[in-house]
This record gives sequence, C-alpha cells and structure tokens, in this order.
Amino acid sequence: MNQDEPPVLQAPPDFASLPDRLARAIALAGPIPVSQFMAAANQHYYATRDPLGTAGDFVTAPEISQMFGELIGLWCADGWDRAGRPDAAWVELGPGRGTLAADARRAMARAGFEPPLHLVETSPTLRAAQAGRLPDAAWHDTVDTLPDDRPLLVVANEFFDALPIRQLVRRAGGWHERLVACQDTLFLPIAGKPVPDAVIPAALREAAPGAILEVSPAAVGVMRSLAARIARQGGALLVIDYGYEGPAIGETLQAVRGHAAANPFDAPGENDLSTHVDLATLAAAAQGAGAVAWGPIAQRDLLGALGIDPRTAALARRHPDRADALLADRRRLMDDMGTLFRALAVASPGWPAPAGFGE
Ligand code: SAH
Repeated sequence: MNQDEPPVLQAPPDFASLPDRLARAIALAGPIPVSQFMAAANQHYYATRDPLGTAGDFVTAPEISQMFGELIGLWCADGWDRAGRPDAAWVELGPGRGTLAADARRAMARAGFEPPLHLVETSPTLRAAQAGRLPDAAWHDTVDTLPDDRPLLVVANEFFDALPIRQLVRRAGGWHERLVACQDTLFLPIAGKPVPDAVIPAALREAAPGAILEVSPAAVGVMRSLAARIARQGGALLVIDYGYEGPAIGETLQAVRGHAAANPFDAPGENDLSTHVDLATLAAAAQGAGAVAWGPIAQRDLLGALGIDPRTAALARRHPDRADALLADRRRLMDDMGTLFRALAVASPGWPAPAGFGE
C-alpha cells in the first residue's frame, strides 16, 4: 500500500438534527402528513432518552405504584388459569422502563404462572432499561415476530397513544389531509390536498369548517395483526390508555415536556407526542380480525374489580410507615386517572371472559 495515499474517508454519519432533517425533507419534497411528522418525532424522542418519572417528561400508572403492574399480572394469570393453564407467552407492547412487567411477573409467579417474556420495543435506550430488570426477556421491533405457536397474554399500557395519527381538517368545500409545512425553522400545520368523502365516516362529513378528525392507521394495523394472532393462537390482550369511543371530531394531539404542555409542532423529537386513543375503533378492528372485544371500561372499575383496595390495605399493614403514601398512590390511580384512562380487552373466541369486564 502506498503510504503517501490519503486514508480513505468514511462517509460522515448524519449529524444533522431531526428538525434540520425534517426541514430539508419538506424543502425538497413539500409539506409532510402529520402522521409522518409524529412518527419521526416520537421515534427520535424515545430512542434518545428515558422520558418517564418525576425527573423526566411524564409519569405513567406503573411508575406511580407497584400495585398497578401486580393487578395487571393477576388479570393475566386469572385468564390463563381459567383457560386450563396452557403453555403461553407473556407480551408487553412499549414496556417503558420494564416496571409493569417486573411487577406483573412477580404477581403471576405467585399464581403459578411463569411464562417467557416477549417485549415489543423500538427504543434502544428503553430496551437497555428493560434488560436491567428483565434480563431473560426476548425483544421484538414489531408484533410480527412474536411466537406463533402458543397462546399470548398481551399488555399495552400507554402504548397506542404514542403511535402516529393522521389528521383530517374540514374546510368550506370538504375534507383535507393536514400537513406540516416549514417556514425557516418554524413547523406549522396547513391544510393539504382534499381527501375523498368516502374516507370520512358518514355521520361526521358535514362538520363545521375547522373541525379536525384524527385516525390512526398505525394503531389499527397493530391491533389487526395482534388480534388475528390471538384469534388463531388463543390468548388475550389488555389495552389501557386515555381513550374515547370514536371516531369523533376533535384534536387530541398533544406535546408534553417536563410535565408541562408544549406546542406539538415545535421542537420535533424533544417533546412527547401523544393522542387520546379511539378504543371503539380498535375494538372494531379486533372483531374484524376474528377476536372478541370487551369494554372499554374505566381504569378505576378494572382496578377495583382486581382488588386494589385489599391490596392497598395489605401493603399498608406490612409497611405502616408507608400507609399514607400507599393511599395517595391509590387515589392517583383510582381518582385522578380512574375515569380518563380506560381499558379494552380482546380475546380469542372461547377464551374465558376477562376479569373486571362483566359478561
Ligand atoms: N408502558 C410504559 C411506557 C409508556 S411510553 C408505561 O406505562 O410506563 C411508550 C412506550 O412505547 C415506550 O416504551 C416507547 O419506546 C414505546 N414505543 C413507542 N412507539 C413505539 C413503536 N412504534 N413500536 C414499539 N414501541 C414503541
């Protein structure tokens, strides 16, 4: 080799920030759909930090109290037991720090259920946090690679709310796709091309100008493939989210940073973007894929039926110094979050009726 030759230069890694890359993409090819903006922003956001907890951007139910994950674990173990204790796998979608999974696993083991854990998680940072608590778990990028030879017990807490949505905006002449444009460094939503009326549910077509409709093909896609597997393989899925029964008019896209609201179109990749979840549309998608759906019911009704009160009392007896804190945690789960957050259950035909959902 000729020593005088300059070393081969590696192509430099793409150091451009996400806002720069989005601005460049928009300058080259025009404004992008809200769904594309939200997908890129959240992918970057979750890949680059652990957002959970008081020091982070937001707090979730499993981070408030161990009782949440324990009761969800009991829900899984109860269905598994009444289904005849099959050789099943346990799955969590978007497990965050792995707190719910660790608490659920402990409660399930006490009930004699010790399934292998499969975690669907795209963030390398959060995968590392999960591996610290659940070193024996298996990780997946999507639901498509989950085991296909056994029943699945699946939990998704505050997962669907992070998946990208499309926004459709009503103008005088009809409905338009909402796009994100970029002026200098400012991202802003604009009305894009008209969409055919057939895209809009008939009852909502005549909404007033300015009305916004959100739909999530990504969430429906995940639900469809998971429900089809559950229908085929057996098992059940529990979804818990800040939810409503849509489709309905109204913008729910929100940004949170350091526990405060932010503009969803500012600083893409630095705020948590989430939406309220249309649980009725997810239930219909599950039924369309051959599964059975229950609910949605309020989180407080689910946790009440699963025994949060006796659990709070038992923990308070064992740790009298923490009795007040336990009651405060219970209040946050049951009162502050209790009716805004709702649970939807999906199961294979023939799976026992899920605990807490009535008949
Ligand atoms: N369930 C946890 C974390 C909620 S935050 C809790 O209740 O505390 C959302 C979680 O979903 C994070 O773990 C995030 O990395 C993950 N996530 C977001 N989008 C995802 C996607 N498209 N595929 C897989 N995981 C995703």
